[in-house]
Amino acid sequence: MAEQTGAIRDTVIVGGGAAGLSAALTLARARRSVTVVDAGEPRNAPADGVHGLLGLEGVSPVELLARGRDEVLGYGGEILAGEVVDVSCASYGFSVVLRDGAVLRARRLLIATGLIDELPDIPGVREQWGRGVLHCPYCHGWEVRDRRIGVLGTNPMAVHKAMLFRQWSPDVVFFDHDRPLEAQDRAKLDALGVGVVAGKIARLEIDDDQLTGVRIADETVVAVDAVVVSTQMVARTELFASIGIKASPHPAGAFIETDQFGATSVPGVWAAGNSSDIGAQVGAAAAAGALAAQHINTDLIMKDLDHAVTAAATGTSSEGSSAVEHTFDNEYWDQIWTGDRAAAMGSSQPNPHLVREVGDLAPGTALEAGCGAGAEAIWLAGRGWQVTGADIAAAALERAAERAADAGVTERVQWVQADLSTWEHDNRYDLVTTHYAHPAMPQLDFYDRVASWVAPAGTLLIVGHLHHDAAADGHKHGSAPGHEGTPGHESDGPPGSASATAASITARFDPAQWEVATAVESHRTISSPRGHETTIHDVVVRATRRS
Ligand SMILES: Cc1cc2nc3c(=O)[nH]c(=O)nc-3n(C[C@H](O)[C@H](O)[C@H](O)COP(=O)(O)OP(=O)(O)OC[C@H]3O[C@@H](n4cnc5c(N)ncnc54)[C@H](O)[C@@H]3O)c2cc1C
Repeated sequence: MAEQTGAIRDTVIVGGGAAGLSAALTLARARRSVTVVDAGEPRNAPADGVHGLLGLEGVSPVELLARGRDEVLGYGGEILAGEVVDVSCASYGFSVVLRDGAVLRARRLLIATGLIDELPDIPGVREQWGRGVLHCPYCHGWEVRDRRIGVLGTNPMAVHKAMLFRQWSPDVVFFDHDRPLEAQDRAKLDALGVGVVAGKIARLEIDDDQLTGVRIADETVVAVDAVVVSTQMVARTELFASIGIKASPHPAGAFIETDQFGATSVPGVWAAGNSSDIGAQVGAAAAAGALAAQHINTDLIMKDLDHAVTAAATGTSSEGSSAVEHTFDNEYWDQIWTGDRAAAMGSSQPNPHLVREVGDLAPGTALEAGCGAGAEAIWLAGRGWQVTGADIAAAALERAAERAADAGVTERVQWVQADLSTWEHDNRYDLVTTHYAHPAMPQLDFYDRVASWVAPAGTLLIVGHLHHDAAADGHKHGSAPGHEGTPGHESDGPPGSASATAASITARFDPAQWEVATAVESHRTISSPRGHETTIHDVVVRATRRS
């Protein structure tokens, strides 16, 4: 059974090489919650040193990443050793499953899984990879300058490699591996003084773990100090096919296409380093990670700002925000109720649907799930109900308690701080109401939860948002395979499960146990405290439990 680990992170980064750690450093310094999951196999692991990296020339790959991890941890980032085995879309963003069964939840995802070098199938190549067998003149050229270099012609890129390495050594030989050269290539190699050895390569000669030569099928051995191969560089993408990421072909391999900032075609997903740029060295991979992180952070800021503006305009209650991808944890909501938006939060007037739908009911016990600053709970208490108001935000409850005192109903309201996605209790209420609440769980599952708190013969009133303007939310996954949109809204692509139609809600009620009295979708125009007129779309469902 998969185990959900902690709150929703701002970003989960898959891969902790140069790209992933650099992104994590930038995000952690931007005060983002970020978790890196790393399987611990960076591409350059076989190499002794990282070359061409300004300020850190020759540092060992192991030490570079160890320093990077320390830097990320120093700013509060989290790094998990492990392998991600599954990724899927979720209402809040992405669900990331590790091999040990842990599940991480993230608003944004950065793919920094690097690539796989597909090596030519020649005995000795794999054993000497990164030491006697090289691929990149900028990584290793200096180290083999003026030495005897053999270029294996196993790949169309090999001639190009021979031309490059000739810059570092006058002693370069090309093995054609029974693939006759084009006349123009032959002419170029001749002009550079690169000799050509014909014949199929049998294996590399290795003596005491040192490369000494290349053996041809006719048993000729050509002595060399280093061998150059052209690998097929294939980005690790299979894992992400489930969210719509696929590899694009490249003459030298395959990569994830992104824009210039690392954003992929799947909203909310970025890629950096060798996964999206197969030619990137360590410095370029780190730079791409940092750039992607900056844009992830900006994207999150803008998305939160959109939601803040909407909430301010509508006076939306704490859990009624359309911000489907917030962490929705205690800290988040306390920040909302104590921060700049606090003054605009929590109408003092009860919701008109509540007034209309339950005004005639005889008072009993009531639960307002996601009570915010308490307008509905206080209204119910004023009509004689014994009310429990539950909300995740302590600051909202403090304000609700003050208002209840002002209204003279303190004795009839109990305020409970609770995360509605996990709150466990044995109470059953004659009336359970919820207005725009959206805890960190699928909306319909949340409605199942609140329905379970209704006593026999009791009433459930659900008032929720209908996200007709889903296009305004840039983070919808409608095109990504594997994502299940909210039933009934495929055409306009609501943001995950924040929006639920009347039909989808009533479909959850077993007719043998529930009688649905109201199931409507409507809209109304309201004025914000700052005078903005806004149309909000509501869904209202009232049902009575038969038994
Ligand atoms: C032999 C060799 C020598 C090189 N020498 C140099 C050099 O001298 N200078 C230079 O600038 N560049 C060098 N490079 C290039 C360098 O390796 C890359 O530029 C760099 O590694 C790219 O960083 P990255 O973060 O994109 O990928 P990587 O460093 O490959 O990191 C990817 C990380 O993701 C992890 N990962 C993959 N899948 C998963 C998963 N499902 N779950 C969790 N983690 C996962 C991997 O284990 C790995 O740790 C060399 C490359 C090779 C092959």
